[in-house]
Amino acid sequence: MLLNLSERVYQSKLSSTVGIADEVARLREKGHQVVDFSAGRAAEDTPSYIVEAAIQAMNTGHTHQTMAKGTTAFRKACSIKLERENNIIADPETEIIATMGVKQGLTIAMLSLLNPGDEVIVENPCFVSYHQLISYFGGKSVPVPLRPENDFRWDPEELESNITPRTKAMLFNSPHNPTGIVHSRQDLEVIADIAQRHNLYVITDEVYERMTWDGHQHTNLATLPGMRERTITIMGLTKSFAMGGWRIGFVYASPAIIRMMEKLQQHLITSCNAFVQAGAAVAFAEPPKPAVKEYWQNWQEKCRFATQTLNDVPGLTTRMPQGAFYAWTDIRASKLSSEQFSRRLLQEHQVAVIPGAAFGSVGEGFIRITCVKSWDEMKEGIYRIKAFVEKL
Ligand code: PMP
Repeated sequence: MLLNLSERVYQSKLSSTVGIADEVARLREKGHQVVDFSAGRAAEDTPSYIVEAAIQAMNTGHTHQTMAKGTTAFRKACSIKLERENNIIADPETEIIATMGVKQGLTIAMLSLLNPGDEVIVENPCFVSYHQLISYFGGKSVPVPLRPENDFRWDPEELESNITPRTKAMLFNSPHNPTGIVHSRQDLEVIADIAQRHNLYVITDEVYERMTWDGHQHTNLATLPGMRERTITIMGLTKSFAMGGWRIGFVYASPAIIRMMEKLQQHLITSCNAFVQAGAAVAFAEPPKPAVKEYWQNWQEKCRFATQTLNDVPGLTTRMPQGAFYAWTDIRASKLSSEQFSRRLLQEHQVAVIPGAAFGSVGEGFIRITCVKSWDEMKEGIYRIKAFVEKL
């Protein structure tokens, strides 16, 4: 009999999106025309000028490992982007590190901050991987509700009442997956005030920062007075440039934290891929090209199409997301749980969505619909949801 495997990993949950993706694959094998609104993956491929830059890098010898913190060119491009778009002046030598996507940025953030038993405040609902990433490194996630009746915003008193002597950090995501809210400057001032009074770090997952609609503005927490030293800002290219398969992003944080992360990258990954960094450097160094802006415009139109069409269905309520590209649809009138609704929708109408409960208990009563599929899929899938609900 072999010895037990890791209890921490054994006890952690499989990603719910993986379970749905498996079911989609099974149905497709049987010949069903499934519309897959589950994963947050756009129909578009990476813009060709970025692909070309990576190919050129491969052809000119950028096929070796780089510095653990990333190439100078990539880190400089990140700092140019931060100054141009976020009003942040960051030293590429000491305040920026390359990561293999936002998830890997979150991984080294947890490893840099947490000692066993440390608590991290997270949103409920939140991105499915947060709880596992915190627990893998000995921490404990403490979910705080973003209630529908409070417009999915923190209640400052409730947030503060969850802070204990073990709280080390707060982790939040804006624009928010899955609810589509964009935290306003006032929301962030609440977080900044609590963080400073309780001496906490704040990790901000800004993977959707370029996707804000209808005049909503993304604010960087790190720019608020007193927050620069205690904020770990994580950004990526997965969503905005349709580069999910490249696995690239970066962290902007204080030199003390970046030094910790550099050590971690040396041992965990050696470095991010050289040619991937070359492509990503081009994406960040220059203002987004028309091809990229067209993607964003398209995604906004698809979000609007989905929300408007779903709002015509009695029993469904969907608000246009303020940011990110998900419709977060209130299905409470159906009297089905989000799990039942999603399972029946997949089995009876072959449309895959994510049940809200997968993101946390407050997500019950909602489903998440990814709105960046091709126009044909968008139309077909949304009309099938309409047909399903009308027959309930
Ligand atoms: N954070 C959030 C909130 C996400 O929605 C996602 C992707 N669905 C990620 C992180 C993962 O980003 P990356 O692919 O850059 O690791």
